[in-house]
Amino acid sequence: MTDSILITENLTKEFDGFKAINNLNFSMEPGELRVVIGPNGAGKTTFLDLITGKTKPTTGQVLYKGKKVRRYSEEKISRLGIGRKFQTPRVYLNLTARENLELAASKHKNVLGTLFKQRTKDERDRVGILLETIGLAVKADRPADLLSHGEKQRLEIGMLVAQSPDLLLVDEPVAGLTDEETENVGNLLVTLAESHAILVIEHDMEFVRQIARKVTVLHQGSVLCEGTIDEVQNDPKVIEVYLGQPRSVDS
Ligand code: ADP
Ligand code: MG
Repeated sequence: MTDSILITENLTKEFDGFKAINNLNFSMEPGELRVVIGPNGAGKTTFLDLITGKTKPTTGQVLYKGKKVRRYSEEKISRLGIGRKFQTPRVYLNLTARENLELAASKHKNVLGTLFKQRTKDERDRVGILLETIGLAVKADRPADLLSHGEKQRLEIGMLVAQSPDLLLVDEPVAGLTDEETENVGNLLVTLAESHAILVIEHDMEFVRQIARKVTVLHQGSVLCEGTIDEVQNDPKVIEVYLGQPRSVDS
């Protein structure tokens, strides 16, 4: 047995006979920060959809903490501790940063928790710490609408963390951000990686260099190569299929 937090075994997803994910074997250890890169159409988003249960595999398995999740709904998989951040921020613009975090923190609350309407001191402390972690403590009480795009991204990452997941899935967190905001998000992910396993999908190679320890290159639905950023950037197969291509604009 293994203690990998996430494993995929011979994972395949067909759309009308086309294999978007093709016999994919992948694994991640608890506490790992992994970046998955790959050209457009490589299957990156489909990969996340299969992990979260948004789509079901044609064949093969996804194992989370050793448990096959195929039979579980998206909601149940989320409750098991897999949190996903989509590309565009999904924060409530008319609520403050603090309120957004409080709302997220109460999402998966058990029955006992929901019986007590008042926020416990513990909860308030947790939200306060989270506001510090995402660098929004000074802007905690203004509407999220007034935050910059980068701050909204950080807030949404905070909302994800508020739900206490063990595995965070993050799809292109720095697309459209300034260099400074990109660095902030990178630092945040590195900090969060001290207490969570994080899987990041990303195009921005400089960002990948900032955060990555191990990089997986996806190509035509399978793992093309894995290694450090230097190893994958110098791999002739990778240069041919990915780095040789013009940088694409979307995911
Ligand atoms: P990436 O995120 O790496 O750009 P995707 O996972 O979005 O790649 O897509 C991988 C391939 O699967 C693409 O060729 C895409 O057109 C195809 N695909 C994805 N979702 C569907 C779908 N719902 N129906 C048909 N084809 C799909
Ligand atoms: Mg995509």
